[in-house]
Amino acid sequence: MINLLSDTVTKPTSGMLQAMFAAEVGDDVFREDPTVNALEAKCADLFGHEAGLFCPSGTMTNQIALKVHTRPLDEVICDEMSHIYQYEVGGYAFNSGIGVNLIRTPNGILSADLVEAAVRPPYDWLPRSTLVVIENTCNKGGGGVYPLETIREIRAVCRSKRLALHLDGARIFNALVAKGGTPADIGAAVDSISICLSKGLGAPVGSVLVGSRDFIAEARRVRKAMGGGMRQAGYLAAAGIYALDHHVERLQEDHAHARCLADTLAALEYVQNIRPVETNIVIFDLVPPATPAVFWSI
Ligand SMILES: *Cc1c(COP(=O)(O)O)cnc(C)c1O
Repeated sequence: MINLLSDTVTKPTSGMLQAMFAAEVGDDVFREDPTVNALEAKCADLFGHEAGLFCPSGTMTNQIALKVHTRPLDEVICDEMSHIYQYEVGGYAFNSGIGVNLIRTPNGILSADLVEAAVRPPYDWLPRSTLVVIENTCNKGGGGVYPLETIREIRAVCRSKRLALHLDGARIFNALVAKGGTPADIGAAVDSISICLSKGLGAPVGSVLVGSRDFIAEARRVRKAMGGGMRQAGYLAAAGIYALDHHVERLQEDHAHARCLADTLAALEYVQNIRPVETNIVIFDLVPPATPAVFWSI
């Protein structure tokens, strides 16, 4: 039985476990863990940014980004389907004291026009728009990929309106593998990125936040305040380095499997409305009276 619930349902390969065993470690709160430092530098370099920060989860990297990019009473513009709104327990309000300005799209892919229309005018009685978050690929949207040009157009709006642009890139490597382009191209078009190592890349734990040196210096303080300062975290970072070195190209296999699954589902009369499959996510509806319980029992 293969569990297709999520790309988080993975276990380390023996090669990854060996890399973890062999890791050189130190106390990362004192910045003395060479493996964590290497992972952070590797991610920053890949995306052409100055610095990186290893965190226990993608929720934490996103929440830190929200906190550092905003002040209380600000507002973040994002898609209604975005992870920061749907699946982070309302942490934007809890951790940062900010609101959300939600945009509705069919697939979680924003456009520059939609973003521009959502930016608030500077009246005392309105929340202040200071941040846009895009999600590439968009999980709830079905794993669709942003065209690079669209990200650049959104960035231009952000620049002209003085908003920061954060990329929730939990599955950024799925996007790159599916549509081409380089991490540096994506990196150059945004202010900060969250990268998940524990999704399709198969590491057991970990996400990396990348951005400018000043941004990451502040992010490091917020991480500590959130309880995310880890000690000999190099054992986990080693899994992340291994994943980046060995598992990025293999995402293609996941994408091929997802397409195969979608094709198989398309032939079933009790399945309808399969969303376009661009990467590793397949979303579909059942034709009533079929229910998930019936589907599982077939
Ligand atoms: C999984 C995911 C995250 C982070 O999730 P964690 O489980 O906290 O690591 C962030 N954004 C998106 C789009 C995700 O799918």
